[in-house]
Amino acid sequence: TQSEIGLIGLGTMGAMLALNIAEKGFAIAVWNRTTEVTQRFVANAGDLAPRITATQSLAELVRSLKAPRAIILMVPAGQPVDDQIAALTPLLDEGDMIIDAGNANFRDTNRRAQDAAKGGPQFLGIGVSGGEEGARHGPSIMGGGRAQDWARIEPVLQAIAAKYEGTPCATLMGEAGAGHFVKTVHNGIEYADMQMIAEVYGVMRDGMSMPAAAISGLFDGWNKGPLQSYLIEISAAVTAVVDQKTNRPIVDVILDRAGQKGTGRWTAIEAQHLSAPIPVIEAAVMARNTSARLEERLKGEARFGAAPQTLPEGALMPQDLEAAMIAGKILCYAQGFALISAASDEFGWALPLPEIAKVWREGCIIRSAMLNDMAQALAEEPGRNLIFAPFFADHLEKSHKALRKLVAQAALCGLPLPALASGLAWFDMMRTGRSTANMIQAQRDFFGAHGFERIDGGADHHGPWALQGG
Ligand code: NDP
Repeated sequence: TQSEIGLIGLGTMGAMLALNIAEKGFAIAVWNRTTEVTQRFVANAGDLAPRITATQSLAELVRSLKAPRAIILMVPAGQPVDDQIAALTPLLDEGDMIIDAGNANFRDTNRRAQDAAKGGPQFLGIGVSGGEEGARHGPSIMGGGRAQDWARIEPVLQAIAAKYEGTPCATLMGEAGAGHFVKTVHNGIEYADMQMIAEVYGVMRDGMSMPAAAISGLFDGWNKGPLQSYLIEISAAVTAVVDQKTNRPIVDVILDRAGQKGTGRWTAIEAQHLSAPIPVIEAAVMARNTSARLEERLKGEARFGAAPQTLPEGALMPQDLEAAMIAGKILCYAQGFALISAASDEFGWALPLPEIAKVWREGCIIRSAMLNDMAQALAEEPGRNLIFAPFFADHLEKSHKALRKLVAQAALCGLPLPALASGLAWFDMMRTGRSTANMIQAQRDFFGAHGFERIDGGADHHGPWALQGG
């Protein structure tokens, strides 16, 4: 008997996704570049093994699938995806479909979708979030491609996806690269959420001399309030764990040099292309890059001396930190959704903003209670920046003062809070009706005759610079 779906790439994500698909009752055929991996996978599949067909070649994989075929790729983004498409295409028939479920750059997905439109197998690009655990038990899935192709695979994706109160977190976002774009921004927000948590952790560790276990207790408390989220939950968990070798909290023995695979950087790059302000995400990417320069930082500490870092007694209360995090989170997501909105206009995607918030409520790394409120606020008026939605405007009015206090106190003590501080700076710019860009315009006109608008009307004025020595 032939399988309903195929999967290529039995690495961390592919293996878990294949088990998830089999568990939901679909017969699946799998292939992996290294055959021993395939054999080990099936040998360890337990009860699910009867629904899994191990194949030893791409041709065998294709033969073992029901037509029209659907094959999921779960290999590293970039060249491996192009190579697999090239290898599969001659084996497939018109109407068959390749689904790239890796973390592709959406521009690659656009290109592959364009190539598919010229003939050969159809192409769908889907972003899958939730890590290994999500892939196994329910990821969040952001689709991109043609509606009729999505419809064919939708029953499988909805079956394997995470459920939020019964609703599957698997949605078609738009054409071609739309799903991978949304996944990229998801990852950018993930960087920012993680960075803001790390910043507040630093204030507690260095500014307030709190041991990891006490920090864990606070995170745990926050996870019962407005900040309830997977990332706060795991932050509480990791700060509670003790290293078996040294008997110290494990976070205290982990080297402070962060890795990255580039999706945060892509978010920042696309935001720049779109002139969309996302300073919190950009700061998070910058912070990872700076963290990687460990030797330079040590040199800096030796040259300039470490900042005092210890906050004055009682300068900040735990509830200030929680409120500041709430403000930071709202500002970060407001920027992220505004970026998605800008991309939607630029690329003609009509991205469904409330649906994006909904698909992120479960399964993915940034899942949180607040996303449900965001889905509602975006549904009220999708084009409006989230900071103007009454629910979030009220929250911000209450919490921005704590963010200000935190940023100010931290700055005085040399505790770096790049993400939170840049969120605050953006917020203050957003509430300043008369900004300082008049000065920029004067300078531009002075050196480049770029012209300016006047507050009393009219465009393309020039200053009398020459008369006064310009
Ligand atoms: P792994 O490194 O665990 O697995 C990679 C898989 O791809 C292996 O099966 C490997 O086969 C195969 N592979 C590697 N290079 C090639 C190639 N040139 N041609 C054919 N097959 C190849 O990766 P992950 O499962 O972690 O990631 C897969 C994709 O999913 C990536 O795009 C990643 O960014 C994305 N992703 C990962 C997440 C995670 O938490 N890990 C979360 C969400 C998305 P072999 O056994 O022969 O080496």
